[in-house]
Parts: sequence; structure tokens; C-alpha cells
Amino acid sequence: MYKTIMGELTRKDAFDGDLLVDEPMRRHTTLRIGGPADVYAAPADMVSLKNLLASLRDENVPAMPLGGGSNLLVSDEGIEGAVISTASLNNIEVIEEDDLQARLFAEAGVPLSRLMNLAKQKGWKGIEGLAGIPGSLGGAVRGNAGSFGYEMKNVIESVTVIDGKGNILPISREHLGFGYRAANIPDGAVILSANMRFQKDDEQKVASRVNDFLREKLAKQPVSQLSAGCVFRNPRGSHAGMLIDRAGCKGMRRGDIEVSGLHANFFVNMGSGTCADFAALMEEVRERVLKSSGIELEPEIKIAGRNAER
Ligand SMILES: Cc1cc2nc3c(=O)[nH]c(=O)nc-3n(C[C@H](O)[C@H](O)[C@H](O)COP(=O)(O)OP(=O)(O)OC[C@H]3O[C@@H](n4cnc5c(N)ncnc54)[C@H](O)[C@@H]3O)c2cc1C
Repeated sequence: MYKTIMGELTRKDAFDGDLLVDEPMRRHTTLRIGGPADVYAAPADMVSLKNLLASLRDENVPAMPLGGGSNLLVSDEGIEGAVISTASLNNIEVIEEDDLQARLFAEAGVPLSRLMNLAKQKGWKGIEGLAGIPGSLGGAVRGNAGSFGYEMKNVIESVTVIDGKGNILPISREHLGFGYRAANIPDGAVILSANMRFQKDDEQKVASRVNDFLREKLAKQPVSQLSAGCVFRNPRGSHAGMLIDRAGCKGMRRGDIEVSGLHANFFVNMGSGTCADFAALMEEVRERVLKSSGIELEPEIKIAGRNAER
């Protein structure tokens, strides 16, 4: 069926970009874990994305958006249906800029690091603490990425999504209901773009804050190893990393997955780790933390794919 969908799209000249069958997801996640997606598509432009989503909808094929794959644990058994990468949707446009503020339009696949560099160069404040967070703008909006008290929501005015029925909808900041690592995006919707507003500051002050946060991140997190960032959400009033450390879990290992000795809420893939190992280690850490602190940790990473919730 997937080959038919792809054949139709190509025949009608309705799709430009990468369109692959049985594409290993380990190639597209920062953990380097994940079995094959039935279809992996990276549309080159918005029209191709819309045409692709319409074809998938017609055939009832599930579709999962993918940014940088930096918050994802994908099943060893892969993903049913289509994974839609936003990587090629990466235009940025400055809409207006004066002495006080700048307004910006950016597509979902813009790397957060590119946005950060632009803000740093121009002296735009609001997201300095997000320095060093990998992934795309779309992923950062979806999970309201945050660090050092800064959150993506600080600069978002509105986003545009395409919903499961193919409607293109603007969603204003008020309706996005941003919370801790969360935003109200309708199920099955793909974030296409965001409108942002930055307040202006002295360029050197912004750059110095960005550099300080980056230095701290590099010192405290295993950023050069394969991970998907924090595994568990911070419980109200506490820190998952501290609870995991106090439960004696640093250095614990299942197969090639290890609880980082640098930051206990990061699990790192030492080479050939699997989703099964990762999930087993999560379970064991959760049990130990529950026993030692009475607190039940909840996952922060997104777990996706066949039998992922088993
Ligand atoms: C070393 C390291 C450090 C990190 N530090 C932090 C940190 O300090 N703070 C923090 O918050 N996170 C951190 N993370 C986690 C991660 O980088 C962020 O959550 C990031 O914002 C995820 O973006 P992404 O594009 O990689 O999303 P992906 O991993 O590709 O996707 C994450 C989720 O968002 C959905 N999604 C992605 N794009 C779209 C879209 N266009 N429309 C709709 N849904 C979409 C996906 O379907 C999935 O459910 C870290 C990760 C690593 C590896």
C-alpha cells in the first residue's frame, strides 16, 4: 500500500523531497535507536507536505511528525505508518525590527540552534537559556522546551498547524496553553511554522548570557554522548536527576544503555543500545526512586512506535 501511495504522489508530480520505505529510525534520532518506519518522508516544501498528508489521510495511514529526533525513544520494532520530517521546511523571515523588538516568521524545521545564533547575533532576548538544546523549532514548540528558567513560550505569538483533516489553522499564544514541557497542539496536527516576537537588548549582554548557559550545560550534561535529553519530568518541587542520584542509580546499565554519571536524568547509549534496554532501565530506575523517595517519576521523553507502551 505504501508503495502505491508513493507511486501516485510521484506520478502526479505532487511530491518533492525524500520518500523512503522501511527507513531505520536510528538514523534520525539523537539516541541512535529505533527500528524502521514504514515510510519516511521529508517534504521539500509546504505543498509537498500538504499533498503527502492528504494521500496518507485518504488511505488511513497514521503520520507522526519528526523534528530533530532529540526527544524521542523509538521502538526497536519501528513505526507503523509514516514519519514526516520537517527538516527541509526551514525558512526564516524577519517581518519587522526596530530598536525595541523584532518579529519573526520561521518554519517548523528551522534548527533551534540557528534561531539561537540569530538571536545572539542580533541582541534579541527571551530564549538565552535554551542554548545547546538540539532539535527543531517545531519540536521545541510542541514540548515547550525549556532550561534555566527560560521556555520556548517566551517568544511565541502564534503557530500555524495542519490538522488531521487537512485544515490549516493558526493557533494564538493564548490557545496554545503552554505548560511544563507541554503545548495544546491538536492530536495528529503538524506544526508548520511559528510567529515570534523578541525584545531587543544589548547584543553583548545577550551573547554573554547565551555563552554562560551553554558553558553550564556542557559542564553538567553529557552533551557529547548519545541521549535524548532528560528521561523523566521533574516532579513538582523536586528534580528527577537528584532523586535518581539519591536512589543510587548513577552508572546503572542495561545492555548498552547507561544512567549518566554526569547527570542522572540522562540515559546514554554507549553504542549498540536498544529501545528494550532503555525501557527496562527506565522501569528499574522508576522502581528504585519510588522505593527511596516515595515519588513516582513520569517520562519526559516521547516514546513512539510499535508496542512502545508495552
Ligand atoms: C543533549 C540534549 C540536551 C537536551 N536538553 C534539553 C533541555 O535543556 N530542555 C528541553 O526542554 N529539552 C532538552 N532536550 C530534549 C530535546 O532536544 C527537546 O525536547 C527538543 O525541543 C525536541 O525537538 P525535536 O525537534 O528534536 O523533536 P523530536 O524529538 O523530533 O519530536 C519530539 C516530539 O515532538 C513532536 N514534533 C516534532 N516536530 C513537530 C511538528 N512540527 N509538529 C508537531 N509535532 C512535532 C514529535 O512527533 C514528538 O512527539 C535535550 C536533548 C538532548 C539530546
